[in-house]
Amino acid sequence: MDKISMWEATANQRRERPTLEGDQQCDVVIIGGGYSGLSTSYFLQQKDVKTIVLEKDLVGSGASGRNGGELLTGYMDSASSLIKKKGIDVARRMYQLSLDSIDLIETIIESNDIDCAFTRKGSLKAAYRASDIDGMKREQEVLEREFNHKVKIVEPSEMQTELKTTFYHGGRIDEKCGHFHPLNYALGLADAVENFGGVIYENSEALRIERDANNKVIVKTTSGRVFADEIVIVTNGYSGDLNKRIKRTIVPVESIMIATEPMPEELMKDLIKNNRAVSDSKNLLYYFRRTADNRMAFGGSGRSTNKRDQLLLFNQLQSGMTTVFPDLREAKVEYQWSGKVGITKEKLPYMGRLEDGTYFAYGYAGHGAALSTIMGQAIARKIVAEDDVANPLEVKRIRPIPFHSQHAKAVGLMKYYFRYEDKKKS
Ligand SMILES: Cc1cc2nc3c(=O)[nH]c(=O)nc-3n(C[C@H](O)[C@H](O)[C@H](O)COP(=O)(O)OP(=O)(O)OC[C@H]3O[C@@H](n4cnc5c(N)ncnc54)[C@H](O)[C@@H]3O)c2cc1C
Repeated sequence: MDKISMWEATANQRRERPTLEGDQQCDVVIIGGGYSGLSTSYFLQQKDVKTIVLEKDLVGSGASGRNGGELLTGYMDSASSLIKKKGIDVARRMYQLSLDSIDLIETIIESNDIDCAFTRKGSLKAAYRASDIDGMKREQEVLEREFNHKVKIVEPSEMQTELKTTFYHGGRIDEKCGHFHPLNYALGLADAVENFGGVIYENSEALRIERDANNKVIVKTTSGRVFADEIVIVTNGYSGDLNKRIKRTIVPVESIMIATEPMPEELMKDLIKNNRAVSDSKNLLYYFRRTADNRMAFGGSGRSTNKRDQLLLFNQLQSGMTTVFPDLREAKVEYQWSGKVGITKEKLPYMGRLEDGTYFAYGYAGHGAALSTIMGQAIARKIVAEDDVANPLEVKRIRPIPFHSQHAKAVGLMKYYFRYEDKKKS
């Protein structure tokens, strides 16, 4: 079994990028070479703001090159829960932002000719329990009434028109959604940044941040320094001790994926008929989709501290895949990998500026494939003071999650509980 992700194995040619050496100057230094950082840089460069992106590993080494590539509308929370938490006005703006995020990605892909198998055939949220479809119908009403957004319900009896499985009891289709090759999008965005004059250093971990007497930022790596007017930290689920305030407001949650060998095209078209981005309504959800080369990319939840547990989790995921699609029983799983999703206490993304001037955006909670690009644009607009309308995800303060260091363990325990609950209701 290959340890690298299927996306890495099937990616377009990477440009070689240097490591930071010596002293460099720019207007804005951006820490993190995922979608958030690359998008911030992309939009700033277009305003003639000189940027340097520092990436610890390679572009897309974090979640941006490892995810399911499902471009979804909305948030981890349901529409009704958003309204309850934020009030109708903010909830409406938040929802619109999520719709706009996929349009923005489409525009970037088209205008930069990014080869990333982008397709917009909609998403399917599949009902795990028979009763889940009632909740989906209620949600459909809210989406249409409050957000003027139409989605379609697939009745249990019609489910075979979507998926070749008896595992689910109907579902909900959102035609606005789509999917892409996540790493190829990240690589294409990085190339576009450089084409606009931006600089990206790889294998360049930001180790320390200081400010000089004029409040200029100095970011130190092992072999160099960047001097800048502004700093953006967009390290999301991979946030370390560089900025402890940001780190303490994020819980990194592991998500795992497997991918089969390329399968006969006819079979894949039969399993997921309309090439949608699929996820389900289990507590520990499955998400899956076809790839451009006819593999099944199948993801789920998982966190493990040792190799034996890890093997077990991947085996469980494979058995989940073949339970959903018995036709894949003989399919060889060629790749398995994992990555970190960043989740905030509210389960909603945050963007804004700390008291010391540091800009940030993170916590997309499994919806960042779409949201992080538009959030990068939002930070860029804030830096150049073009954010005339306040971003609905902007927060004035970030507060540490109490007992933050214990949260990873708590998440692990919650997963055992959720797994038990999912089994009970099957
Ligand atoms: C397995 C998996 C499946 C997922 N599936 C989906 C999906 O289908 N749909 C969806 O919407 N979302 C999905 N997500 C979430 C989505 O991938 C993320 O929300 C999104 O990629 C976040 O982008 P980002 O740029 O904010 O963070 P990342 O892409 O995680 O980028 C952060 C970067 O910061 C770098 N970094 C950290 N510290 C430093 C430092 N000190 N110096 C320099 N660099 C540093 C890291 O190396 C990393 O590259 C999934 C995530 C995972 C892990």
